[in-house]
This record gives sequence, C-alpha cells and structure tokens, in this order.
Amino acid sequence: MESSMMNDMHLGIDEADLSPALTNSIIAGPCSVENEEQILATARALAEIPEVKMLRGGIWKPRTRPDAFEGMGERGLVWLREAKQETALPILTEVATPEHVELAMKYDIDALWIGARTVVNPFSVQQLADALQGVDIPVFVKNPVSPDLKLWIGAFERFQKAGVSRLVAIHRGFAYYKESPYRNYPMWEIPIELTRQLNVPLITDVSHICGNRELLLPTAQKALDLASDGLMIECHINPDEALTDAKQQITPDALKTMLAALTFRSKQSCHVERDLAGWRGEIDDIDAELLQLLARRMEISAQIGEYKKQNNVTVVQMDRWKQVLDGLMVTGQELGLSPILINKVFEAIHQASIDRQARIMEDE
Ligand code: PEP
Ligand code: MN
Repeated sequence: MESSMMNDMHLGIDEADLSPALTNSIIAGPCSVENEEQILATARALAEIPEVKMLRGGIWKPRTRPDAFEGMGERGLVWLREAKQETALPILTEVATPEHVELAMKYDIDALWIGARTVVNPFSVQQLADALQGVDIPVFVKNPVSPDLKLWIGAFERFQKAGVSRLVAIHRGFAYYKESPYRNYPMWEIPIELTRQLNVPLITDVSHICGNRELLLPTAQKALDLASDGLMIECHINPDEALTDAKQQITPDALKTMLAALTFRSKQSCHVERDLAGWRGEIDDIDAELLQLLARRMEISAQIGEYKKQNNVTVVQMDRWKQVLDGLMVTGQELGLSPILINKVFEAIHQASIDRQARIMEDE
C-alpha cells in the first residue's frame, strides 16, 4: 500500500506540467477491462512495480468488425475505480464521445486518452473538446492512424482552445501500406517533429506499434533512446486469454523483466537526442538540396562547355571567374560565412566545372 501511495504522489497529476511526473514512467494495464477479477489481479501486480505510475484500461473498444468484443462500458468503470481505490494507481481510459467523457468523470477517472481512430476525425475531436470545456483533467492524445502531423497538431489545438491545459502525446505508430514487422509503423520522425513544434510530454505506446510481444523490448529501447518521456505497455494477468489484442499483451511479471533490461536515459539526454534528431533531419534535407543544386550547376556548365567549343572560346575565362568569386565573398560575408569556406567550396566547384568543360573540348 505504501509503495502505491508513493506512485500516486510521484505522478503529480495535479501539476500543470506533467513532464517531470511522466519522465521514465510506465503506463500499464490491459487493452480492455474484461471483468472484475482480471482488472483487480492485473492492477495489484502492476502496483508492485515502482516504474508503473498509471493504470490503463479500455472501457469502450473501437473494433474493426462489429461482432468483436466492444468493451464492458459503465460496468467496467466500476471495476476500474475499484482497482484505483485498492492500489492508489491513477486510472486512464479511452473516450471517443461526450457520453464517454461524462461517464468517465462520474467514475473518477484521473486522465483520458483519445484513440487513434478518433483523432483522425476533427468532428469527433471537436465534440470531445467541447465536452471537456471547463473540465480539469489531463488528456493524452494518440497520433491519428494516418501519418498526418498537421491532423495530430490540430487535435492538440482543439483541446488547448477548450482550455485543457495538461496535454500529453502518445505515439502508437501509423498505418503503412508496405509489409513491415510492425502492426503500426513507428515513423519516429513524426512524433519527434511534434515535440519540436509543441511543448508536450511524449509517451510511446509500444504495444500498438509492435502488435506482438517479441518486438516490444527493442522498440521500447529505441523509443527511450530517441524521444520518449515514458512508455505505455499493455499488460494482462493472462494475456493469451485476452479478449482484445492478445498477441501484444504481456504479464506484469514479463513487464518487470522487460523494465530491468531497458536503459532509461536522463531527461536531459532524452531532449538532447530529440533535438539532435530534428536538426539532423533538417541538415539531411539541406544536403540533399545542395546535391540537386550542384547537379543542376554542372549541367549548365556542360552546356556552356558545348557552346565554348562550337564558338572556339577558351574554357577558362579568368576575369569572369574573379568577378564571380569577389561577388560571392561579399554576399557570403554578409551571411556570416567565413571567406575561407567560400573560397574552398567555390574553388572546388569551379575546378570541377573547368574539368568537365575541358573534357568536352577534348571529345572531338
Ligand atoms: C488502445 O490503446 O487499446 C487502442 C485502441 O489504441 P489505438 O487508439 O492506438 O488503436
Ligand atoms: Mn489494445
């Protein structure tokens, strides 16, 4: 009991900024709340793991086919609240409609998450934002099923406008048209860019990215190395018998083993990695653009070479080159670039052009 109380205090769910509380924390619990014994037994075992700071449990399940198990609804909320009362773990569930929000509040749910299938629909997100107006509860926003950063950001903006001040991003991977070992392809650059643009903590839902138990550990490590403040992991007291997502759920014991194998990074290094990954992506784009420009320049230079050959003009036109280089030096220095860099780069480019034109001259 004492350790559970510690969990509650450490989560600091009343704090305006959730990131210190979520750093290196685990949100665990079953995909779906199925019955009283299942959620209580799972919660009790999870409460023994210090890193577990919140208990998740799906009450309304968005299923692909209509005859699948669609969650226990209000009855499940009674059991989830019981699990909270017994373990002191704060509880988190998915809401997709204003009625869900109302019921969740009635049963003392501590935080809500918005599922990937809901975030794709701005009408639904707006309805939820309206329902949450004036309700002071943390909202965890999953990425939309499609790899659409603007749509994900749009959902945050709708909640922000409704006055929801404690927002957290959950990365759960994206539907992908190619074969892949993942259930939902991670596309790490999208959550990284999200956290560059919005100042929100980032949780990685490795269970829905992987879709199987085998990939969980390496994917969780990658998430922690790259960008994540914490992880969401589906846990079930008897995963093979789970009514939803059986293949990806693990026992609380397996979670304990997995956590022991993970290296948690300091918050600082986490942010360093995240910022670096964003900047490196930009540098890669710029380098690719530079290559395109160089190729285009060489092409024009070759056309000039052909012209010079036909008109019997020498390849090297020293006066013209001196003029060009002087102009580049002036502009470059205005841009804060060192004269040595400008000289080196453009001498190399010019030399390559001369070599190319000389080869054209030789090719009689
Ligand atoms: C879930 O967390 O159980 C769930 C339905 O997730 P998602 O919205 O990411 O598919
Ligand atoms: Mn699930």
